[in-house]
Amino acid sequence: MGGHAWRRALVTGGAGFVGSHLCARLLDAGTDVVCLDNLATGSRANVAELEQRPGFRFVRGDATDPAVWRALPGRYDLVLHFACPASPADYLRLPLETLDVGSTGTRLALERARADGARFVLASTSEVYGDPLQHPQCEGYWGNVNPVGPRSVYDESKRFAEALVTAHRGVHGTDTAIVRIFNTYGPRMRTGDGRAVPTFIAQALDGMPLTVAGDGGQTRSLCYVDDTVEGVLALAGSAEAGPVNIGGGDEITMLELARRIVELTGSASRIRFVDRPVDDPGRRRPDTRLARERLGWQPRVGWSEGLERTIGWFSRLVAA
Ligand code: NAD
Repeated sequence: MGGHAWRRALVTGGAGFVGSHLCARLLDAGTDVVCLDNLATGSRANVAELEQRPGFRFVRGDATDPAVWRALPGRYDLVLHFACPASPADYLRLPLETLDVGSTGTRLALERARADGARFVLASTSEVYGDPLQHPQCEGYWGNVNPVGPRSVYDESKRFAEALVTAHRGVHGTDTAIVRIFNTYGPRMRTGDGRAVPTFIAQALDGMPLTVAGDGGQTRSLCYVDDTVEGVLALAGSAEAGPVNIGGGDEITMLELARRIVELTGSASRIRFVDRPVDDPGRRRPDTRLARERLGWQPRVGWSEGLERTIGWFSRLVAA
């Protein structure tokens, strides 16, 4: 974590996929962690192991509720605002909640960070670039977002949150940073959230056909969750305000991804081609030069290793 030591961190959304890995990594480094989560899309099971550890505390509460913030124990020197439904299936089911946690939730988290004199990090997203007209996307690109489009609740919630963070820094001098996270994969993703990695793994483990959209030629460069977490903490430990892109790694086609998963699971599953969703981008790849130059960060976990670890976790889940 760049040699940085925090005494006490607050992680909103800490019972979610990325948040739970963040909590674990902070605890490993000797930081006490309070996880604030309303379990809208996360689960207590994600933090069950952490709850056995002395420096960890789970608080069930909504980050948009001022009373919850008032009741939160202690002072923090790091506030990581990760609460937000993140997969399309979730934010389309929870559109108003998604807008609320990006607006009111971010505002309350910022106010706490300011009051405590804490470093604050907003989990933003590559989705602020919308349907990008520039490839790869660098931080200076303003994006191409339809404010009334099908994904707008998520994209605009994060864009508003970024504006709020920037204003808070300007008005109050709050020590803020914005990280734009690109697609991340790893253990504790949920099957059924519509994302390729957990969908393919679940299909392979069930012996069902892997449903590849279109001809499978579209590429993604997903980041293994440990790398994403290292990037977030490198930013937290720096003096950078951001926004900084974190993500990427090797680019892979969806067909190649499906084939690798079949191979690594030893499954007898076949591949079935299905219609491609209308808003499915052909290519998405981050420009992470800024993270490399300013934070010394780059993804390290390759596809084979990352997929093996993820498949191992899903297999144990199925076996349990
Ligand atoms: P997730 O759904 O697994 O985690 C989000 C967590 O926030 C859940 O535990 C949920 O219960 C909690 N939450 C939601 N609304 C809340 C509220 N009002 N109060 C308290 N808790 C609330 O999603 P994730 O993939 O772990 O994403 C975490 C963060 O990272 C999100 O802010 C997301 O936008 C961002 N992000 C994730 C990715 C990715 O690939 N996973 C990419 C870009 C950005």
